[in-house]
Amino acid sequence: MNIRHLLISATLVVAFLLGGLFAVARPTEASNQWSNWHWRRTGDRLYLRVQDTTSSTLYPRIVAEAVANWNYPSHPLVLYLRPYCITIFGWTLCFHSIHAESGYYGSTGWRGLATLNGTDGDHITHAKTQLNNSYIASDPDTDKLHVACQEIGHDLGLDHRVSSDSCMVSGGSGAYPDSHDYSVLGSITHQH
Ligand SMILES: [Zn+2]
Ligand SMILES: [Zn+2]
Repeated sequence: MNIRHLLISATLVVAFLLGGLFAVARPTEASNQWSNWHWRRTGDRLYLRVQDTTSSTLYPRIVAEAVANWNYPSHPLVLYLRPYCITIFGWTLCFHSIHAESGYYGSTGWRGLATLNGTDGDHITHAKTQLNNSYIASDPDTDKLHVACQEIGHDLGLDHRVSSDSCMVSGGSGAYPDSHDYSVLGSITHQH
């Protein structure tokens, strides 16, 4: 079982300033697939369930909005919110789905964390998004949406980007995916 993590650093301001120094126009941008990770799709579209157990008072519709923003008509992905995980003796099991949760995880150094689980290092079997209340509980909704959008993007198999308005930008504040994200996502969730 392979498990990979990506995180949004708590040193966001420093990272953003450094990123600004290297902000140059690039004619084409490389794929931001996260290593070789991707979901296996057997039909025309990839259907993924997302279970949202984040705090409803701290994250009102944040995850729902992030999920809606990742759905885009021209790529073969359908994400939808639906309780799918099963909790047995305190253990939450999720299959072919994404689980979004929040908690006071402390001074971990990350505001959001994505964990991918796969059987062979390539194919994601389920993924988790964690939103760290210890850093972002009192942030404006747009900042929470940035973190939720990015972590779900990681859960879909995408890595960070630079010099972008996308939510996948490292050291920025974008709250939405952009056409490049949709394009890469469409190409990596190939049918096989
Ligand atoms: Zn990230
Ligand atoms: Zn594959």
